[in-house]
Amino acid sequence: MDSKFDVIVVGAGPSGSTCASFLAKGNARVLLLDKAVFPRDKTCGDAISGKSLKVLRELGWEKGVEKLEHGKVFGITFSSPNGTTIKIPFPKKAEKGSYAAEGGKGYALKREVYDNFLFQNTKKLCSTIEGFTVTDLLKDGKRVFGVKGTDSKGNQKEFKAKIIVGADGSTSTVATKLGLNKIDVNHHITALRLYYKGVKNCDEKIEIHFINSMLPGYFWIFPIGNNLVNVGAGIITKDLKNKKINLQKSMFNAIEKDELFKERFKNAEKVSEVKGWTLPLGSTHRKAHGNGFVLLGDAASLIDPFSGEGVGNAMTSAKFASQTILKALKEKNYSAEFLKEYEENLWNEIGQELKTSYLLQRIGRIKFLLNFIIGKAERKKEVQEVISGMLANEESKKEFVSPWFYLKLLFT
Ligand SMILES: Cc1cc2nc3c(=O)[nH]c(=O)nc-3n(C[C@H](O)[C@H](O)[C@H](O)COP(=O)(O)OP(=O)(O)OC[C@H]3O[C@@H](n4cnc5c(N)ncnc54)[C@H](O)[C@@H]3O)c2cc1C
Repeated sequence: MDSKFDVIVVGAGPSGSTCASFLAKGNARVLLLDKAVFPRDKTCGDAISGKSLKVLRELGWEKGVEKLEHGKVFGITFSSPNGTTIKIPFPKKAEKGSYAAEGGKGYALKREVYDNFLFQNTKKLCSTIEGFTVTDLLKDGKRVFGVKGTDSKGNQKEFKAKIIVGADGSTSTVATKLGLNKIDVNHHITALRLYYKGVKNCDEKIEIHFINSMLPGYFWIFPIGNNLVNVGAGIITKDLKNKKINLQKSMFNAIEKDELFKERFKNAEKVSEVKGWTLPLGSTHRKAHGNGFVLLGDAASLIDPFSGEGVGNAMTSAKFASQTILKALKEKNYSAEFLKEYEENLWNEIGQELKTSYLLQRIGRIKFLLNFIIGKAERKKEVQEVISGMLANEESKKEFVSPWFYLKLLFT
């Protein structure tokens, strides 16, 4: 194999595979590297948003997802700390949304399956190496011009390119080597996930439960089809540390003892081990470009701070990065000055949404407000409609963070 390329993409998750595909479709010579061999597991809630589907459509791959084993999602169930439960359907006209998709339908499917689908389609378009772990960058003081790493047989290798793309997830080696992967525990979630079979009363809705023992975090149940559910819990890392919460213990306690769940899980079978992972949030803006490089997805800390949804922003960042990179290759300009267009365009697209989501996350920390809003929604259809709108478009989300909304709610 050649050792020189136009672009090297490190990491073949949703951001890396999407970026490599757009670049290859634009006639760039791309090498896509991943330390794993596909299909591989990725610890996740497995909910695939409308935003992800939009990028898939632009790649011409949306119909392929329908053929993969998946669960259909038509809404969200929320429960408040005092145990009130509401079921909110996705509106038919979803725009962007955290988990909603156009036509009021979203998907939940194993990332092992979804990422493999993206990777196998990408493999048809560019050079790829699986089982290759990038350990360092080649730099000359001015710019990044390649990567070093180890292949599956333990051989050390180097590859050079005009631009390096760091799409290697929340523990990104590329971002770390560039001094950009600083963890801020205020903008970072620690989460757990496992799979169950046979949980009762799952009804094509993803479920988010605000449980006292893990506040301000939450517990989720996402049905992914074939009688399987993805179960997990997540909390801001600073709260986990300060409140000394044992997330795993709280989660199993809820499953075994909480009135809302114990009957539903009584005869369910645990079909995987518990895995932990981290979510770098877009409530802080990480620099994502420089001389000869860009960062995407989790490596650029782009996860929605309210919903925890990261695949949509990962794929969106890949699309914007590929547009700037194709221009850079044409102009033969790989400087930070040129590549900053990517970060500007990306933040123009998702910056406001991330800000609103951060405000929503802050509101969600206040226990009495959670009880109040979910309680009101249980009784009032118009409050349900506002929440439904919030799941699918920016304007309704903004309404939710306005003090007027809460004042109105008091008198509703
Ligand atoms: C518990 C949990 C639940 C979540 N739930 C959801 C959800 O329901 N919906 C949602 O949209 N998002 C969810 N997220 C967030 C989502 O998983 C991420 O935002 C998304 O995976 C980011 O995609 P990515 O391509 O940037 O990185 P990743 O998917 O992490 O892909 C990175 C790739 O890089 C490879 N790699 C890493 N290091 C190297 C290296 N040194 N050399 C070579 N390759 C390397 C890895 O093998 C991997 O394939 C969740 C996250 C967690 C932890």
